[in-house]
Amino acid sequence: MIRHSDPAKTRVAIIGGGFSGLGVAIRLLGEGIEDFVLLEKGTQLGGTWRDNTYPGCACDVPSLLYSFSHSPAQWSRVFAEQPEIQRYLLDVAEKKGVMPYVRLRTEVLSMRWDKAAQHWEIETNQGVILAQFIVAGAGPLHEPKIPRIPGHEKFKGTVFHSARWRHDHDLAGRRVAVVGTGSSAIQFVPKIQPTAESVVLFQRTAPWVLPKLDHRYPAIENAAFRYVPGFRRAYRGAIYWILEALQLAQRRPRIMRWLQGIAMRHLRRAVPDPALREQLTPTFTMGCKRLLLSNTYYPAIQQPNVVVTNGLTRIAEDGVVGADGVEHAVDTIVYATGFEVTDPPIAERIVGVSGTTLAEQWGGSPQAYLGTTVEGFPNFFFMVGPNLGNGHSSVFVLIEAQADYIVDALNTLAARGADYVEVRGDVQAEYNERVQEALAGTVWNAGGCSSYYLDRNGRNSTIYPWTTVDLRRRLANFDVQSYRLSAPTSAVDRVLTSDDESATTNYEKSGRALRSAVFAARPMPTETVDNP
Ligand code: NAP
Repeated sequence: MIRHSDPAKTRVAIIGGGFSGLGVAIRLLGEGIEDFVLLEKGTQLGGTWRDNTYPGCACDVPSLLYSFSHSPAQWSRVFAEQPEIQRYLLDVAEKKGVMPYVRLRTEVLSMRWDKAAQHWEIETNQGVILAQFIVAGAGPLHEPKIPRIPGHEKFKGTVFHSARWRHDHDLAGRRVAVVGTGSSAIQFVPKIQPTAESVVLFQRTAPWVLPKLDHRYPAIENAAFRYVPGFRRAYRGAIYWILEALQLAQRRPRIMRWLQGIAMRHLRRAVPDPALREQLTPTFTMGCKRLLLSNTYYPAIQQPNVVVTNGLTRIAEDGVVGADGVEHAVDTIVYATGFEVTDPPIAERIVGVSGTTLAEQWGGSPQAYLGTTVEGFPNFFFMVGPNLGNGHSSVFVLIEAQADYIVDALNTLAARGADYVEVRGDVQAEYNERVQEALAGTVWNAGGCSSYYLDRNGRNSTIYPWTTVDLRRRLANFDVQSYRLSAPTSAVDRVLTSDDESATTNYEKSGRALRSAVFAARPMPTETVDNP
């Protein structure tokens, strides 16, 4: 517990201890910026890799690319499994010296921009923290989404979401309903099927499934990673460019169709029964939803104890009813129904300049500039924000590029003596127009499916339409001309635009003085926080 009457102060508050938050913390330390805290509501760092512990949970991006470029790991296999990834994350946090800055069990309840004081007031379950800047790394795949199925309150059995796996509830010998056939379900269904008494799989939309080119690294490959100079780097580079080519294909549904041929062959080889094959054949263009990789999913769902049916429509006391009206007796329901990607709960907790929440401003369609900054929410940076997602490459490419951008922003502000930065409304609007234009006609928008890429207004607020090469180029330098900068109003009472160079010089001294007095010299009192 924070035990002091004065709120703690910090220059930068990072929210969330997943790979995003960790990436920013490492980057700040690398830049010599130590006046920051990383607030994590859980009892351990890890984000999605701490939370998703379902059987079979593994990466679906080759691990060589699914890691920080500055911290290569000796992965045991091509697609590492959750425990190994979580160990990697904790190991990197320790080795890079991030742990002293971490405040575990600290949940952010609200973040309010204090106009008079020109800083963020962060209310947490451990007390109030004042921060000059916030970097939100809460993650788009954080809050489980559970559909409200009629009758759900009547069910007498056990219910949980795949991202909150109940390890105390052994599924051996159970009659299990699994709702959903996305990335999570296809990984755990083959693991629970052998011991469950029965599995009813509710498939609302048949997914495209490609073979997973996975294997344990043999000794020779491991030796090459360790001893052959440049081998790991070249391997990582090759994966990056192959995935980048896939992105180009995804932008054009017609090109994507040849990849469908590979998936169809995979389905034909694995599923001899024509009726089941038809049921499992997707009706949308591949890439419209996230690509799924598995060699074990089709074999598992053909076992005699598995029934594949359509959407779940009703729940009874001891059973579930599909859209075909058939009732199945079950004692456990596992929702593999994804996450609140386009209605992130954190947006309801952020109150900007005008006194409205970010969720109200977004109205169900998240928008930002470069997925990082939002008009009306000064000194606030998003990690993996709106329209930064990609269905093809590693999130690490994005995390590292964004961390560079944010650190460059902080350095630019410091150099100009500015304490306030807000993206210009016209820049944000024009950028989003271009994003939406580029998305029109792509497989994500026009592939004939519904997915979490599209928000409740039907707008794609998730995907970055261009390559990660393009994204890295855009994020390489903080483009100060796209922002409004100013010193705190108490020191200088007019807002400066970045092209007003003379004014920049005028307020430099007062801005710098105030910043160092209020923030830079006042680190968070580490000893007052319960942080085992
Ligand atoms: P998801 O991709 O959003 O899939 C949700 C599934 O639930 C879909 O099959 C959906 O059906 C179904 N569903 C939702 N509401 C339903 C309802 N009312 N009735 C029946 N079915 C319903 O969720 P996810 O599988 O958890 O994956 C989410 C994301 O997490 C992935 O795209 C990926 O980015 C990430 N992930 C990554 C890995 C990894 O290996 N790195 C592993 C797991 C997850 P429809 O298709 O009909 O909507």
